[in-house]
Amino acid sequence: MKRTRLKPMSAKKRAEIEARKLIVRDVCELAGYSVCSGPIEKHEIVRRSQSSTAATDERLVIGLCTVHHRLDTFKDEAVELGIRIDPDEWRLCGGDPDLEAGLVAFADAKRAVARGEETAWRHRFVEWCDERGYDPVLKAAEFNLALCSSGEVVDGAGSAGDLSPDTPGDTA
Ligand SMILES: [Zn+2]
Repeated sequence: MKRTRLKPMSAKKRAEIEARKLIVRDVCELAGYSVCSGPIEKHEIVRRSQSSTAATDERLVIGLCTVHHRLDTFKDEAVELGIRIDPDEWRLCGGDPDLEAGLVAFADAKRAVARGEETAWRHRFVEWCDERGYDPVLKAAEFNLALCSSGEVVDGAGSAGDLSPDTPGDTA
């Protein structure tokens, strides 16, 4: 019987696979943007070529169904939907954890908007700014892409609805 020897896997690679297994992602992050289909797969919002630890970085791994995972093929759309962080912006962080956290939070917010959770997005954004002592308006302007493009996504999804739930003085 002829045996073929497989190339042995490095201990580092094996550890990475094990660590990745521990990250559970069973919800599609774009559920609600359009109809989901297929099993949930793990996806890194930063390419492994840009962050050697992306595959096991809890901050960067999200769940996506097959249909929504496919949107990652279109870079601009992927950035707009928050399933991909713009590579140039990530590089500009220069490894600073706080700046990286900012981009991760914005990607998170964009996905919330894509799902039609405009209120959740605003709430999260303001909370994120508060935690770090940032002025939400100035911070939004600094990352202007997030506010403008996300607004378009909401309109496109047609699920934002009326954003003024409290109308004081309801005079009939
Ligand atoms: Zn989906």
